[in-house]
Formats: sequence, structure tokens, C-alpha cells
Amino acid sequence: QFHMIKHEDLTWKESLGQGSFTHIFRGSKTDQRDGVTHTTEVLLKVLDANHKNCWESFFEAASLMSQISHKHLLLVYGISVHKSKNIMVQEFVKHGALDLYLKKSMSVSVSWKLDVAKQLACALNFLEEKNIAHGNICAKNLLLAREGDPSSDNSPFIKLSDPGTSMALLDRIPWVAPEVLDTLEIELECDKWSFGTTLWEIFNNGEAPLQGQDLIQKQQFYEHFSNLPALEWTELADLIAQCMQYQPELRPSCRSIIRQLNSLITSGNTQVFAICLQQQ
Ligand code: ATP
Ligand code: MG
Repeated sequence: QFHMIKHEDLTWKESLGQGSFTHIFRGSKTDQRDGVTHTTEVLLKVLDANHKNCWESFFEAASLMSQISHKHLLLVYGISVHKSKNIMVQEFVKHGALDLYLKKSMSVSVSWKLDVAKQLACALNFLEEKNIAHGNICAKNLLLAREGDPSSDNSPFIKLSDPGTSMALLDRIPWVAPEVLDTLEIELECDKWSFGTTLWEIFNNGEAPLQGQDLIQKQQFYEHFSNLPALEWTELADLIAQCMQYQPELRPSCRSIIRQLNSLITSGNTQVFAICLQQQ
């Protein structure tokens, strides 16, 4: 279920590029409330594929996001259908995708990254309590609403974007949980795997895991039950390894993830403190 938005209420601005099966534009939406015209800046996601499976899962994604509300979940205003065009109208998030942000930022502190990770874990905990699987957790789908001060302790604020269409699963290795390639079912545990991959991305400054490998190599990665290169920080590497277990039932609960992140936040600050002392 979602709100239908009239095409004539939308204004189109510049293109922001392409996603998987989508073209993305900045724009605005007007609506009448109490006899006054309100204008809201929006992001317009136009689905470019026309096979049925594709728009079905696109509508499902829009419907999922419209039904639930949480401070770390992106707001979806609704769907607009114009001729053969299907458009998802959503909140425009100022600083864009996290992977690009991390790639272009010179120094992002450990505490900033842990903050982002914890916000994502809170969003996942909310979804877990509602028994809803997202299905497409990755740094690209984390949008940065507030930058904070990446080199100090000023907190960022992220929003998890919609899962999009569930097509092209192979392209999503190593974010997609390995069992999904067999079952084609997205369960709660799948998001834990993707959370692990996303943590890896965040702490590798937005670098794509398995970068430069082709589809065959990526499939072999799963066939051989491989793991991503471990991070130097052993407690963090351990959390990632727990999430990215091939047996779904062994992956931690969101509560456990949050608890571990909290303890990393405490020890992370100690580490930062130790580095400060060394530099003095
Ligand atoms: P997928 O379903 O694979 O996530 P998509 O259609 O969501 O595909 P993305 O690749 O996730 O497309 O997004 C493309 C780019 O658009 C991102 O890099 C980001 O910079 C920008 N973008 C996406 N959503 C928003 C938003 N709500 N606000 C601002 N920028 C956004
Ligand atoms: Mg996306």
C-alpha cells in the first residue's frame, strides 16, 4: 500500500545518475494543505526496466518503506505513474550515499564510523522487531542526512534507503547473503550478513569488497565459503565474521550486534585517546 502522487505535482531537476534498473533525479513535489501550497524537495527514482517482476518488487519496496517509520529509515512519499513510467518519490538526503562520501573524504574518524554502524544496527533492530527483512543493506543504500564533523566526535546521521528491485542478485555478491542465491527468499538473517559486509565497507573507507573480481570469481567466493580480508582491529573483525557466517542461524541478533558495537565504541574511544597521547 502506498500513496499515489499526481505526476503534475512533480517538478524535475537535474539527473543524479543511475542505480540498478533506475534513473535518479532531484526534483520537488507540491501539495495543498489547508489551502496553502507546500513545496518539498524530493528524489525521483524512475524504474527503467519494463518486465513485470521488476516493477512488482519496485512497488513492494515502496510499499515496505511507506508502511514503517523510524528516524533511520528513508521516508518514501509515494509512487507516481505516468504513461509507462513508474516513479518512486522519496525524501531527498543532502549528502548522498555513504560509499561515495567515504571515498571522497580524507579523514573519517573511528568514532564517526562506529556511530554510523550503530545507527544502521538500530534501524535493523527496529525491522527485526517488526519481523521485516530489508534485503539490500549496503553502504550505497545508506544516505547521509547530516555530515557531523567526520574528523571529530560531532555525530553524523544516516537513513537507510529502500531495497529497490530484487533483480540481479549475482551483482550483489558479497552483500547478498549466500543462501539467497539458492532459496531466492529474503529472511531476517540475510540482513545480518549484509550488515557485516557493510561494516567492512565502512571501515575500508567505502572500498567495494571483491572489487575487480568478475561474476564467476564472486560466485566462487561463496562456493568456497570464503571470507573478506580481516580488518586489523580484531574485535571489529570478529563482529564482521559473526555476521558473515555461512550458516544463517549462527549470525547474531541485532541486540547482540548493538551490544558489541557499544563495547567497540568504548574501546574505540580509548584507542583514539591513546593515539592523541602519542602525538603530544
Ligand atoms: P539499488 O536498488 O541498487 O540501491 P538505486 O536505484 O537505489 O539502486 P543507487 O545506486 O542506490 O540507486 O543510488 C544512486 C545514487 O543516487 C546514489 O549514489 C546517491 O548518491 C543518490 N541517491 C539515492 N537516493 C538518494 C536520496 N534519497 N537522496 C539523495 N541522493 C540519493
Ligand atoms: Mg539504492
